[in-house]
Amino acid sequence: MGELKKYFIVNFGCQMNVLDAERMEGILLSRGISPAENIEGAELVLINSCSVREKPERKAISLLGRLCKEKIKKPGLLIGFCGCVAQQHGSKLLERFSGLDFVLGTNQVAALPEVLDRVISGERLVKLEFAGEKDLDCLFSVSPDRPVRGVSAFVTVMEGCDNFCAYCVVPYVRGPELSRAPEDIVGEVESLAGRGVKEVVLLGQNVNSYGLKRGFGKDFPDLLKMVARAPGIERIRFTTSHPKDLSGKLIEVMAAEEKICEQIHLPLQAGSDRVLSLMGRGYGSGQYLELVDKLRSAMPEIGISTDLIAGFPGESEDDFQKTLEMVGRVRFDEAFTFLYSERPQTRAASLPEQLSEQVRRERLWRLSQMVSEVTEKKNQGQVGKFKELLLFEESKSDPEKLTGRSREGRLVHISKKGAEGLLGGLVIVKISKGLKHSLLGERLEHETNRNWQGEEQCLSR
Ligand code: SAH
Ligand code: SF4
Repeated sequence: MGELKKYFIVNFGCQMNVLDAERMEGILLSRGISPAENIEGAELVLINSCSVREKPERKAISLLGRLCKEKIKKPGLLIGFCGCVAQQHGSKLLERFSGLDFVLGTNQVAALPEVLDRVISGERLVKLEFAGEKDLDCLFSVSPDRPVRGVSAFVTVMEGCDNFCAYCVVPYVRGPELSRAPEDIVGEVESLAGRGVKEVVLLGQNVNSYGLKRGFGKDFPDLLKMVARAPGIERIRFTTSHPKDLSGKLIEVMAAEEKICEQIHLPLQAGSDRVLSLMGRGYGSGQYLELVDKLRSAMPEIGISTDLIAGFPGESEDDFQKTLEMVGRVRFDEAFTFLYSERPQTRAASLPEQLSEQVRRERLWRLSQMVSEVTEKKNQGQVGKFKELLLFEESKSDPEKLTGRSREGRLVHISKKGAEGLLGGLVIVKISKGLKHSLLGERLEHETNRNWQGEEQCLSR
């Protein structure tokens, strides 16, 4: 086995997977293995898979197949398969793909060094068992070498999920809900702040049930207040909020704490109460609308995003119309629309009335059309408003622009001219144009006299 010098990670799926990939990178960097520019330049390739829907699962498996074929020409190549699909299929993957060296389950990131040692000495292996409650340090450990890219970073507050929504595979592949100790979370946030991070995004499948099982004496709003005290951190976001567990206390804390951004991702999934009940979501459309009212009366400028599924088993045209109605009533600032995807083990997979691909696709198309119209109009409605942006990167589409995120979560592009030195900082802009997925803004010359809501105020930052 040649020396391992370069790695490449192919990541599929959600923010949790992005964070897991960064945790793996931290481990590899601390062993002196550095990132390759592309797959071809790597001696170690990790595929970090997602099984929430069928399509990304298939993509990850087909990439694995291709890599195993290429390995015939490059015998020194090490291939590791990680993430949710790895957790689900385990040793079957080693049997099916002779070129695969190891399978690493979702809760096993911290075992990567040991796995690498064994693989380098010639073993092929599967590491799957949930670290579980007995080994929380491993479950949440993050290498100090984890790469920090820019001014925003993800931080895990909990792993797993206990909700077992009828369509969802997450509880089976990520295991039971386990919360991380608040002092460890704050410790990681402080260390990220020390490395230049200004914004943290706290991650959990259902942050609203944070801590309730573990008896820390701290719930999620308490945790938010603790994180808000971390010096150097300017902004805090979090995801995902399950509507059934969203408390009045969370809304109060969000409204009161200046560093907590006025943004919430609140997956609705469907508009029909009958479908919501089949999904086992634990709320109805009326309760959801009440939450939206409470959030908007406490924080009028709040950005509300959601997830919606088209074509859940048994969804009638009437049911589907109710999802469209909810989009019209709530007027989401952003909505991620998904084609219902049948997942093994889930309750929904055994429901009798699975809808045809054609019906699901057609509904998804109508839903995404309506969502685009609503979000574009909402973006246009932002023109003339003042926003505080955290400028985080050079625009991907226009080299003359910098891109920032407003407090409520919108992407805003501003001219680079005169603003080059401001990358990584907060600026106040006036919105000049609303586009489909983003806004254009102009920096104010006298930006010290307005706050993000457009009120006259002296900003001390
Ligand atoms: N924990 C989060 C979401 C996790 S999965 C929550 O409770 O909201 C992210 C999104 O994927 C879900 O909100 C849902 O809209 C979608 N999703 C999950 N399983 C799916 C499936 N089988 N088919 C289609 N979409 C699905
Ligand atoms: Fe899946 Fe529901 Fe858990 Fe979210 S809350 S991860 S949708 S089971």
